[in-house]
Amino acid sequence: MLRARSPEECHLYMGLHPCTCGAERFAWQRHYLIPGAEQTSVYEGECPGCGEAREFRFAVPDTLAPPFTFGGDEPSQVLDPYQFLTRYHLTTRVVPSDPAVLPESQRARYYAELRTGIAALREVLKFIPADAAAMPADAFTSEAGRAAFEADPEQFARERLEGLLDSHQETLAAYQAAVRGTTPGQSPASS
Ligand SMILES: [Zn+2]
Repeated sequence: MLRARSPEECHLYMGLHPCTCGAERFAWQRHYLIPGAEQTSVYEGECPGCGEAREFRFAVPDTLAPPFTFGGDEPSQVLDPYQFLTRYHLTTRVVPSDPAVLPESQRARYYAELRTGIAALREVLKFIPADAAAMPADAFTSEAGRAAFEADPEQFARERLEGLLDSHQETLAAYQAAVRGTTPGQSPASS
């Protein structure tokens, strides 16, 4: 069975696995947990494209990773570095660096998106062994991931990824301040 660490990870996985009819969006209508030696998280619904019943089952830990994170220190077992990097890039395309340009009512939503995107970037780093600078080629399990790594392995290098993480600290602080009315400068949720 698929092994996920959080609802976010399940959602991202489902979004990357379109129906055989080609419809990418899977608007699941039912979600439930089956208790057991290993808890199972089940998503069910009909494909909005063809009406076919679809179902995803994930083995999940008793303690799920908190919101705005995909998992703990260990790398994902269902998604690869490329899929997380793509998720991160999606965030950078939609979230403006200055929350002041957004209507006040929208800021919390964009802050949530920013936190999720940065969490995805952190997931990419988890595939690099602690003492290594480069991403191992065998971290990639998707076709697109292997191709992206072959074309430009540097985009997955530790230094580059950590640089990107750093580059968002100011934006994160600005959003945190805009949403919570706190003073920028303090790092938001470290997880
Ligand atoms: Zn379908």
